[in-house]
Amino acid sequence: MILRLYPGNEIVASIIDFCNKNNIDSAQISAIGAISKVELAMFLLDEKKYIQKELNEPLEIVNLSGNIGTLDGKIVSHLHIAVANTDFAVFGGHLNSAFVAATCEVIITPLDEKIIRKYDDQIGLNLIDNG
Ligand code: ZN
Repeated sequence: MILRLYPGNEIVASIIDFCNKNNIDSAQISAIGAISKVELAMFLLDEKKYIQKELNEPLEIVNLSGNIGTLDGKIVSHLHIAVANTDFAVFGGHLNSAFVAATCEVIITPLDEKIIRKYDDQIGLNLIDNG
């Protein structure tokens, strides 16, 4: 399925909203586009916490990939992104949020097999646990 996003749209919320409206509870996500702001995160395993970095500048999405699954029956996303700035330098990480500048072209491929997440106490993250 194809989801086109518009200037000002927040990408993560838009993908989850689209999946909720279309009853997609398991999917592969791929996207490219141009954004004006992104919040990246990186999980520090030893401390079991995320650190964040926000970029506020014109950025190309070099790659956005991840998946849609469920956590306690609720549709959740797990997305990573690589973005390039006007120096063609690339930053990347776990995607918390990103705001569309020109456009964002999202391809959503529903999966037959369901992605079910559960909180993993040892790791400190909601990991895939299909039993
Ligand atoms: Zn992640």
